[in-house]
Amino acid sequence: MTAQEPQHAHNDSLESVATEVRGCVRCALSQTRTQAVPGEGPADAEILFIGEGPGLNEDRTGRPFVGAAGQFLDELLAQAGLQRSAVFITNVVKCRPPENRDPEPGEIAACAGYLDRQIALLQPKLIVTLGRFSMAKYFPGESISRIHGKLRNVGGQLVLPMFHPAAGLRRPETRTALMQDFKQIPLALAAARKQQVPPPEKQPEDEPPPQQMTLF
Ligand code: SF4
Repeated sequence: MTAQEPQHAHNDSLESVATEVRGCVRCALSQTRTQAVPGEGPADAEILFIGEGPGLNEDRTGRPFVGAAGQFLDELLAQAGLQRSAVFITNVVKCRPPENRDPEPGEIAACAGYLDRQIALLQPKLIVTLGRFSMAKYFPGESISRIHGKLRNVGGQLVLPMFHPAAGLRRPETRTALMQDFKQIPLALAAARKQQVPPPEKQPEDEPPPQQMTLF
């Protein structure tokens, strides 16, 4: 193993991440969850969707995006010509925050290792962040209303930030923005395939700052 490879690179798997998540007690959310929600999708998924955290239905079923926001996500995926079974869907925190409150910085930090391992294992061509908490992983300090729907290259990883589908259920204008933004996914994926973005750990160390791509 070289210094640049993830710690678990040689014997890690999405299944072992999921198993660890289900038994995890690294933060206080473990005390209030019914079950953890590691995320799901095929190991060869080209697109990784990262949401915020499990809600009531997700906490009950152990599966991501199965409530009303999940149904809306299914609609958005279908509109973009994507099968849910072909993409990987997970969250920034894998356990439900009580009363669906925002995840706290300490909880996000405690859970980040699982998400990072999932990203390293999937090496997705495109990451779509849903909501401001996953957006902040790649664009700290940015405003989602300013950068949603704009494809960017972050150190060799293409990232397309979007609003959270739950916000689209609450506000018609956000729903419209989500429907517009999802239409960009096929174009973004085509760009990602053409560019054949190398995995982040193989990037040179002196990365240029994130750049807005001129595609859209
Ligand atoms: S939210 Fe993440 S870090 Fe916290 S208990 Fe659940 S899996 Fe572990």
